[in-house]
Amino acid sequence: MAIRPTIAAFGQIDGQLAVGGIPIERLAAQVGSTPFFAYDRMLLSERVKLLRSILPPGLHLSYAIKANPMPAVVQHLAGMVDSFDVASAFEMRTALDTPMHAGNVSFAGPGKIEPSIAQAVASGVIIEIESATEAGRIVQAGERLGIRPRVAIRVNPDFEVKGSGMRMGGGSQQFGVDVEKVPSVLDVLVSGGAEFLGFHVFAGSQNLSAEILCAAQRQTVDLILKLAKHSPPVRYVNLGGGFGIPYFDKDQPLDLPAIGANLAHLLATALQPNFPDARVVIELGRYIVGECGVYVTRVVDRKESRDRQYLVVDGGLHHQLAASGNFGQVIRRNYPIAVGNRICEQVEEAVTVVGCLCTPLDLLGDNVKLPRAQIGDLIVLFHAGAYGLTASPTAFLGHPPPVEVLV
Ligand SMILES: *Cc1c(COP(=O)(O)O)cnc(C)c1O
Repeated sequence: MAIRPTIAAFGQIDGQLAVGGIPIERLAAQVGSTPFFAYDRMLLSERVKLLRSILPPGLHLSYAIKANPMPAVVQHLAGMVDSFDVASAFEMRTALDTPMHAGNVSFAGPGKIEPSIAQAVASGVIIEIESATEAGRIVQAGERLGIRPRVAIRVNPDFEVKGSGMRMGGGSQQFGVDVEKVPSVLDVLVSGGAEFLGFHVFAGSQNLSAEILCAAQRQTVDLILKLAKHSPPVRYVNLGGGFGIPYFDKDQPLDLPAIGANLAHLLATALQPNFPDARVVIELGRYIVGECGVYVTRVVDRKESRDRQYLVVDGGLHHQLAASGNFGQVIRRNYPIAVGNRICEQVEEAVTVVGCLCTPLDLLGDNVKLPRAQIGDLIVLFHAGAYGLTASPTAFLGHPPPVEVLV
């Protein structure tokens, strides 16, 4: 059964799923209400340790906060990763609330306006420039504040990365500066007195092919070597990430050792010889947090309609949009799901699990095979650690927001 590895990762106690070492019924009592998100502190730590053990030493590991910006999660990771990637002024504040040094925070994302640019310049974070307009704004903010902005150019490469869940580089893009426009943007920055650090390429998300990711890393390094011939010394190389996680039955986990070997090779043969002073960064969001969180709901109704059994739960797509299939999925597939307080019971029936919103979109499990659940049981949705709550339309239908806990 597809959910087994997911359950095994969290563990079980007395026939119940355990999160943070706490049986799920007890955790629900501790939280005080359902629905809720729970993130497992130990799994987060283990994930970072796994990455550290396989990625080459010297490579900086950055956490992309947009995957899960819960302050407690970000605080926890602050002591474990080397840097944070933020994509808004609000995320920048969350990052700067932690012990993470501002110089180890990078600020990406299109549409950066004067106030957030000024905040970034004043804070000393690395601004990853997405357009010529932004370059101009950054120079102006630096002049006005009397502070040298620290900048890198996010480059929209002249290659594409196939097989990504979301493509964010190659061809025409709202992200990054097209390769051919890099020289003119560099001119604006250098003549404007900004401190140029290096380049950033992030071409796509949720890729499960190590082969494709390795090829993209190779192409990214080649591109940066070319660009560096006409730039000030490169001290920052952000190779992006895009490491995917296996959301569905047929997905195979990423071959991390193959990627680690490729990065070690690129560091030793191309990056360290050419850029001996550069910080080389890989930035990951969902790969760090995605599999470390669950969304827990309670069954509030059980009904039969013609030939189908329905479980109606007290949560829904307003909290966990991705599980309903409406967050960028082309074909709707079921996220792993379980009756959290009946983990060891026999699978007895095929049921359709729906949320409490008055829309047919609010489908959390379509014809899933589960032990027989009763009103009051806890339905757990896995892979809720990334792009869960903050990627969901919480105001839709006006139900209360869920609690989030780190345990
Ligand atoms: C969203 C984003 C990430 C994280 O993507 P994941 O798929 O969660 O790893 C990394 N870098 C940038 C620039 C992003 O916008």
